[in-house]
Amino acid sequence: MPYADLDYQLTEEQKAMRDMVRRFGAEVVRPAGIELDNLADPAEVIAKGSSLWDVFRKFRKLGLHKRGFSKYFGGMLEDLDPMSGYLITEELGYADAGLTISLGVSGMPFAYCQLSPNPKLQALARAYVEDEEANLIGCWGITEPDHGSDWGLGGEDPKCAPSLRGVLKGDRYIINGQKSAWVSNGTIATHSTLHVGLDHARGMMGQGIAICPLDLPGISRGKPLDKIGQRPLNQGEIFCEEVELPQEYMIIPDYAKFIGAGGRGGQPPMSGMAVMFGGLAKAALDEALRYARERIQGGVPIFEHKNIKLKLFEMMMQVEAARSFARRMYLYNAESGAASMLHSMMGKWLSTETAFKVASEAIQIFGGNGLSKEYAIEKIFRDARAGMIEDGVNESLALAVADQM
Ligand SMILES: Cc1cc2nc3c(=O)[nH]c(=O)nc-3n(C[C@H](O)[C@H](O)[C@H](O)COP(=O)(O)OP(=O)(O)OC[C@H]3O[C@@H](n4cnc5c(N)ncnc54)[C@H](O)[C@@H]3O)c2cc1C
Repeated sequence: MPYADLDYQLTEEQKAMRDMVRRFGAEVVRPAGIELDNLADPAEVIAKGSSLWDVFRKFRKLGLHKRGFSKYFGGMLEDLDPMSGYLITEELGYADAGLTISLGVSGMPFAYCQLSPNPKLQALARAYVEDEEANLIGCWGITEPDHGSDWGLGGEDPKCAPSLRGVLKGDRYIINGQKSAWVSNGTIATHSTLHVGLDHARGMMGQGIAICPLDLPGISRGKPLDKIGQRPLNQGEIFCEEVELPQEYMIIPDYAKFIGAGGRGGQPPMSGMAVMFGGLAKAALDEALRYARERIQGGVPIFEHKNIKLKLFEMMMQVEAARSFARRMYLYNAESGAASMLHSMMGKWLSTETAFKVASEAIQIFGGNGLSKEYAIEKIFRDARAGMIEDGVNESLALAVADQM
């Protein structure tokens, strides 16, 4: 760290965890992220032998995939203090945003399985925890071609109801429809947390959440999505045609009731986004600071020019503000037992906007080199840009928060 961090209260265990993830980030995640980002065809990212699989396997060997799982399922939820959880996410975000999402979302459906009393689903949660080879990979199928922001803003309006629908026939849901090309890990996942429209008249409130094995007859995939940022995160459509899903896999048949009861507790996805993009913002700052010390113009390192120094000061202030808010929000969510969705949305907004602004200013400090593929900053900039759209477009989050002010 090139400047002092306000982490003086960390215990030795927390520091050891942070340092372990930082090493993993620097030695495995960041280099793999750069390599995968440079592949021209996103199909190469998921090809056998690509470094993506190395990242997955090493992540699991370190046991980091167990963090959201209770000890009952072989996980480490009860043993991992909230600050360590925060540090893991921030360090991973610092290393590579796209890979952090890919690794994070890969546990999602299996974590949901913990909510079910069904022995088959409970066994699936356990199998994920034990899986160090990345044979089980999850995704989150929510966005549809016709419904993006509607998932957050659509409410009970039937015009916003999901297009992918399920109808209960006997002991099975018959599912038809598609999820959009934005499904992270959609191309490689074995299971999806699948948001399904069940009661059209209730709009988005009439949805249910299923755990859907993606090898069921009637399921097919799209090709890997090509995009400008977070390229190591592979994404693709999921199509369902007359898919028969056993009723017990619809683990949340009434979303509105589930949310009304406080959801599943723990951290909402936006909370993790806030923390990881705080990490990415810091990565952009560190790249700029290092470059400003090395690059000589006017006979001195450009850091000595007051315009650069003041720019770096402003960037540091913004990064620290975003990280501080993210940390406070994350710890509150973990310790209060009732996560604040409002603050999670604010945190996601603040960290992603900060990461983008700071990465953009960093490019200015790099001059022409900031645009060159030789330096990591242009990738960080592209990765940060995607953050302002994923998991809820920032304007939509702002509207949702403002409505509750
Ligand atoms: C990197 C990345 C990863 C992602 N991962 C996943 C994933 O794992 N699973 C998944 O299902 N999806 C995923 N998404 C999809 C993401 O959640 C959506 O892109 C996002 O919710 C926005 O939806 P949209 O792209 O359809 O934009 P739209 O909803 O079409 O929005 C377009 C614009 O219109 C504005 N707008 C839309 N509706 C309103 C309204 N009611 N009022 C005011 N303004 C409005 C928005 O603010 C935005 O500026 C991912 C996206 C990205 C970029």
